[in-house]
Amino acid sequence: MRYLSTRGHADRKRFCEILLEGLAPDGGLYLPEAYPQISAAQLGHLRQVLNTQGYAALAYEVLSLYIDDIPAKDLRALCEKTYTEASFGTPEIVPIKALKTKAALGAVVYLEALSNGPTLAFKDMAMQLLGNLFEYELTRRNAELNIFGATSGDTGSAAEYAMRGKKGVRVFMTSPEGRMSPFQQAQMFSLLDANIHNIAIQGVFDDCQDIVKAVSNDLEFKRKYKIGTVNSINWARLLAQVVYYFAGYFQATQNDTQKVSFSVPSGNFGNVCAGHVARMMGLPIEHLIVATNENDVLDEFFRTGVYRVRGSADTHETSSPSMDISKASNFERFVFDLLNRDAARVKHLFHDQLNQTGQFDLGQDPLFAKAKTQFGFLSGKSTHADRLQTIQTIYADNHIMVDTHTADGLKVAVPLAKPGVPMLVLETALPIKFAATLVEALGREPDRPAKFEGIEALPKRVLVMSKSVDAVKAYIAKHCD
Ligand SMILES: *Cc1c(COP(=O)(O)O)cnc(C)c1O
Repeated sequence: MRYLSTRGHADRKRFCEILLEGLAPDGGLYLPEAYPQISAAQLGHLRQVLNTQGYAALAYEVLSLYIDDIPAKDLRALCEKTYTEASFGTPEIVPIKALKTKAALGAVVYLEALSNGPTLAFKDMAMQLLGNLFEYELTRRNAELNIFGATSGDTGSAAEYAMRGKKGVRVFMTSPEGRMSPFQQAQMFSLLDANIHNIAIQGVFDDCQDIVKAVSNDLEFKRKYKIGTVNSINWARLLAQVVYYFAGYFQATQNDTQKVSFSVPSGNFGNVCAGHVARMMGLPIEHLIVATNENDVLDEFFRTGVYRVRGSADTHETSSPSMDISKASNFERFVFDLLNRDAARVKHLFHDQLNQTGQFDLGQDPLFAKAKTQFGFLSGKSTHADRLQTIQTIYADNHIMVDTHTADGLKVAVPLAKPGVPMLVLETALPIKFAATLVEALGREPDRPAKFEGIEALPKRVLVMSKSVDAVKAYIAKHCD
């Protein structure tokens, strides 16, 4: 298996080469040269593997179709080390549960639980594997990597819990001082591992991102201190997410001729892009439903063909904050497939047109219709009022609390569910992470998993710094020797 860039660079790379890289050299994103196709016999085999050996074995089978530069026994061991009941809370890892909803008579809506990992958001599903892959590959190369990033919550904590104590890796994570929820702050700052560095910047999230950009643009510094990232464009993260589409499918169906649909709370288009990859491999998915919040860049595209990135002034701060994006960093991968993998055209749209005008319009292009007819995409949006109502209705009918992002997925999914096609809504976080909105909706605090009892009182390790690029660089340099 070789990987190519969506913008047509001539290089073809193997999995472990792109594992530690971000963008391709031409600014494009990596994708496999072709998606491995799953035959009917293979699909039956994978169902059998999940049923008899469990999620880690399924993960190994799916990953091995894309990774041929890690010996099979090592890859299997990495999957087994990652997807354990101890880390993810249940033997099924991603159990599904049927919900009572107002969907059409005979239509069944399931919640697929992806949020029982160490930081209670679905990002653990990929990040935990990434931590083990990084440690494996860095050890093999006798190399080091210093991960530097900015977070407003979920990504930073998922990265830190994945990388804590790992050999060859350090994490330097900036966050806006005092802006994350108390629970999120406690989650991150209570990590005392020597290789984890929390830097609270006296500013807002954009200030943190500006510092990360400034450091990334200093190529000399980046090279000298081996700076890398773990953002959602990383192909290994996307690949890890493909697995739970298979696991959800097998749990919701009895045989491999049935179809299912997935509804995916979307921000940077990483999660639903993994669904697209699973569908391209031949997993019988009818629809992939992109659910957005008030930041509806993606819903607008799937409705009209216009992709219009927003400025920071038009990006709303919502009660599903992990979906508050101005542009969707993985979206280029889907557009590449939609345009029949015409890399020159993708480069023109994403490099030239987006930079010059902030938008492009495929609405008049005959290929645009394929998003729905050939690739199965539908979309919808949800607002704060929808979110509160969905949380209330689901709680009243099922006695289950869903988080605000998952509520957006449910809001969009329920009217689209139809008899005979199970609708799986991906649960992307647990409600305790976004307690304020749950209290607003239900008048009570969400349940807290036992392992997080009292974390706010634990000792904290965080360095508060002014928004100075030089100060942050000096801190990194000092701790990399
Ligand atoms: C990251 C995140 C999302 C958005 O996922 P994308 O892969 O960026 O589309 C949705 N919900 C939660 C809780 C998240 O943390």
